[in-house]
Amino acid sequence: MSDCLFCRMVAGEIPADVVHRTDRVLAFRDINPQAPTHVLVIPAEHHRNIGALAAADPGLLGEVVAAAHAVAVAERLVTGDGNEPGYRLVTNTGPQAGQSVDHVHLHVLGGRGLGWPPG
Ligand code: 5GP
Ligand code: ZN
Repeated sequence: MSDCLFCRMVAGEIPADVVHRTDRVLAFRDINPQAPTHVLVIPAEHHRNIGALAAADPGLLGEVVAAAHAVAVAERLVTGDGNEPGYRLVTNTGPQAGQSVDHVHLHVLGGRGLGWPPG
């Protein structure tokens, strides 16, 4: 989609601080980080939200989650054989949840205590 911000980042038309890339998944640092690590993980293909992605291509959803975990390992939020100190995955669907870009993305958040429940 030529008018989608994240599709344009996948295409290289808008610069991104890329931390992980496969042929089907891209991960880059959020421009307005909410934690010491705040990375967005997206499928290269456009899907508007996680439900649409799960329905269209559950394998690709699995690849996105695996990439998010790989980012967390690379950022030392978890080790290969443990889950310390930890990280959070967030995906927003719709305006009431705060979705501002209609190309599904996982937020990988960590590097500080995040608290629960979220605000
Ligand atoms: P949402 O609000 O849809 O869950 O998350 C969208 C995220 O995209 C926000 O955290 C916002 O900071 C990030 N974002 C918006 N525009 C850009 C951009 O041009 N570059 C990067 N790296 N992140 C962006
Ligand atoms: Zn898109």
